[in-house]
Amino acid sequence: MKTIGLIGGMSWESTQIYYRLINEAVREKLGGLHSARLLLNSIDFADIEPLQRSGQWQRAGELLVDAAEALVAGGADFLVLCTNTMHKVAPAIEAAVPVPLLHIADATAAAIKQAGIRRVGLLGTAFTMEQDFYRKRLLEQHGIAVDIPGEIDRALVHRVIFEELCRGTVTEVSRREFGGIVSRLQRAGAEAVVLGCTEIGLLLRPENVPIPLFDTAEIHARAAVNLALK
Ligand code: GLU
Repeated sequence: MKTIGLIGGMSWESTQIYYRLINEAVREKLGGLHSARLLLNSIDFADIEPLQRSGQWQRAGELLVDAAEALVAGGADFLVLCTNTMHKVAPAIEAAVPVPLLHIADATAAAIKQAGIRRVGLLGTAFTMEQDFYRKRLLEQHGIAVDIPGEIDRALVHRVIFEELCRGTVTEVSRREFGGIVSRLQRAGAEAVVLGCTEIGLLLRPENVPIPLFDTAEIHARAAVNLALK
């Protein structure tokens, strides 16, 4: 079994999901008392969020490179960055370390294609929904068309992520609002919706909506186990 290096803490509310899902998947596959070999470098999200907000992505990337290097020095065989948004700086991490980074968009795209789906709606932070680094990868490297919510809906999703989900608050009001956004994406032509933020699965579950959900935290955690056991 390879050692998984998790770069987490963004936020820890979702990193704990990775830790649980990775260990559950290892137990499911190997049985008995098996659990995952992993290292977690959980960074303080309060150091990262202001850099996102002010567009200092290079500085944020430097902090993540430091975290990645520490994991590699500790023996990680490959890296898992437990946030969609920070994959904006994935190229900086990939350039800095000698081990692979299991890209969250590639793992998600593989699951979408396996389900025979070609057009998805995307929910995530404003950075993930509005900038190129995520949507373009899904479209250009995987042939998956991506719709995003309208401006008001995007602002709501972004606000709920930072003001509620990353602080451990899950409300029925926000669940209903997200359900409405999924319905609008469906009406616009999306066959499924990507939960392109690792906390959204805390709020929205498959039973809340009429179309398939691709939860990036779940998919990424499972892909990490498949790679670790390959
Ligand atoms: N965990 C989130 C994501 O998947 C949001 C927190 C962040 O901005 O990194 O994008």
